[in-house]
Amino acid sequence: MSVVVSFKKNHKDAKCETGKRVMKIPNTMELKKAETLIIYVIQQEAFKKELKFLEKEETFTKQSPLQKLNPVKDSKDLLRVGGRISSAEMSNEEKHLLIIPRTCHIATLLVRFFHKEVAHQGRHITEGAIRAAGYWIIGAKRLVSSVIHKCVICRKLRGHLQNQKMADLPTDRLTPEPPFTNVGLDVFGPWTISTRHTRRGSANSKWWAVLFTCMSTRALHIELVESMSTDSFIKALRRFFAIRGPDKLLRSDRGTNFVGACRELNISSKHAAVESYLQSKGCTWIFNLPHSSHMGGSWERLIGVARCVLDAMLLQSGHNHLTHEVLSTLMAEVMAIMNARPLVPVSNDPEMPTILTPAMLLTQKTSTVSAPSGEFKMGVLQGKQWKHVQCLADTFWKRWKQE
Ligand SMILES: [Zn+2]
Repeated sequence: MSVVVSFKKNHKDAKCETGKRVMKIPNTMELKKAETLIIYVIQQEAFKKELKFLEKEETFTKQSPLQKLNPVKDSKDLLRVGGRISSAEMSNEEKHLLIIPRTCHIATLLVRFFHKEVAHQGRHITEGAIRAAGYWIIGAKRLVSSVIHKCVICRKLRGHLQNQKMADLPTDRLTPEPPFTNVGLDVFGPWTISTRHTRRGSANSKWWAVLFTCMSTRALHIELVESMSTDSFIKALRRFFAIRGPDKLLRSDRGTNFVGACRELNISSKHAAVESYLQSKGCTWIFNLPHSSHMGGSWERLIGVARCVLDAMLLQSGHNHLTHEVLSTLMAEVMAIMNARPLVPVSNDPEMPTILTPAMLLTQKTSTVSAPSGEFKMGVLQGKQWKHVQCLADTFWKRWKQE
């Protein structure tokens, strides 16, 4: 260590012309000398027993990490890997690599240095660089892996995104209760509807839709409401309760959309009329905490899908002027499509061809066929098409008779 200390002192104490102390850059010879000394010290510390064995020319114990390396001492008393290539035409340093114990800090520093040298490549390339530089770190694989695992740059480059751990689901999502006992509520829209024809054209009004989602079956119910009236909202609630039965809990969040819709519709859970109506039905309306729209994920997601289905329907039907009748029909069909969506992944097992849907839970029927949208004409099969069907039927009957 004395060499390193004196070397350090020499270089620190060197003064420039102005008399200020400056660090002198060490030359290659001095660096090599320091390296040799450092490795000598760590080897003496780590391999005390092995060095004694080597002096006595005894074999190492089986537990010794040097047992397989067949170490030899070089001219500077450094331990090097022996191996069986002594007679190869290579330099001594290439043939016999310097042994570095894994537990010392120098090993970590070496790995960090070569990992940086190879531009933060993986374990394989880093290990190769260390070996090529003439070091044999005992247990290098594990050390390189641990250094790379902790490397900030590597994490930035190749790390997996961290996911937020989801909190437990609320109890009303998990308790097995009849459909539409615990309900999530949201409002979406509006749509402009031509209500009546006047001399100047048609009078329009804005309509909204209230979306009720069952927390346990994930079934969906939509009711239309005309804007600007609490009365209209209560009527929607009455229709919902009448069709789907009594409900214990209504939940909604304070998302800007919902709050805006509520303001425009003039509805609130604190509104006396709404409150007394819900009380009479034995139902409570809970608002999620502000700025926690993630808590209403179950119905927010359904609104997105419902909107998507409705947009596609409106585009297909090509209605320029929506009427209440058209909108309510489309909403019923949206409901049918949404309630026929699979709740669990569709199985590839041929013995399980049915899929579980909210409609199945509501109606106990395996197949739910939604009404065809648009006009349905009888006797569409004419001419060629009719002949083709007859031909198919004939071949089917012939085959059936043969079997
Ligand atoms: Zn890295």
